Amino acid sequence: MPDKKIFTPQARKMWDQIQGDSRLKILNNVLCMHCRKAVTININSARIVAGDLLLQGTCAICRSKVARLVEKE
Ligand SMILES: [Zn+2]
Repeated sequence: MPDKKIFTPQARKMWDQIQGDSRLKILNNVLCMHCRKAVTININSARIVAGDLLLQGTCAICRSKVARLVEKE
């Protein structure tokens, strides 16, 4: 699980509402343009953008920048 300190309060609230299983799926299923496949994200920042949760970080394999938008349900 990512360090909670990188979450904005709002982002943390939304993240906490996601079930543990789903969180892992999100973290382990981020498309890396460099690896050209789904990879694990190492989150650097998490914030709310237009109501959705935006996770930004680096690819666990090649360390390229990757991002994952988690749409509000
Ligand atoms: Zn990669």
